[in-house]
Amino acid sequence: MGWTPPKPFEWNHCGTCGAPLRPAHDGERERPWCRDCNRFYYSNPVPACCVLVEDGAGGLLFVRRAVEPALGRWSLPGGFMEAGERAGECVARELEEETGLIAESCRILGTGAGHNALSGHVLVLGFIVEHWRGTPHAGSDALDLAFLNRDARPEVPFTAHRELLACYDALRGRAAAGD
Ligand SMILES: [Zn+2]
Repeated sequence: MGWTPPKPFEWNHCGTCGAPLRPAHDGERERPWCRDCNRFYYSNPVPACCVLVEDGAGGLLFVRRAVEPALGRWSLPGGFMEAGERAGECVARELEEETGLIAESCRILGTGAGHNALSGHVLVLGFIVEHWRGTPHAGSDALDLAFLNRDARPEVPFTAHRELLACYDALRGRAAAGD
C-alpha cells in the first residue's frame, strides 16, 4: 500500500473572511493578500527539533520511523514543536515519546533546513544529548531503535538530518583531534 502525500500547502483563501487571496507586494516580496482584511499570508518554515543522543562510545541513537513520511526508514529522533513549547521541552518530549529516554540536559548543535510534502519548509534545530537516563525502547512513533557508530550509520531520508550529522561530525572530529 503506497502512501499518497497531501497536496502541497498553499494559501488560496483568507482564513478570517474566506475571500480569495490575490498577490500583493508587502514591501519585501509578493505574497498572498486579503484586500478586505488587509492581511498578508506568509509561508514560513515550520520549526522542528532533532536529537543527537550519544552513548558515550561514539554511537548515536537512530530510530526506525513508524510514521510517514519515510515510514520504515532510519532517522534521528525528533519532531515538530508545539505552540508555546520551548525547544528544550520539545527535545525532551520527543525523545521520551520515541525512545523512552529522559534527557538530563541538552545543548544546541546547529540548524538544518528541509522541505517535505506534509509540512512544506522546515527549520530543524539540532540538539546534542550527552546525559540521559532510562532504558531505550521503541515508542509510539518508532518501529525500532539502535545506537550506531559512524561506520554503521544508515542513510537518513531528511536533508536537515544529513546537515546536522555533518555538523556533528565536524564538531566531534575537531574535538577528537584536540583542536
Ligand atoms: Zn480576509
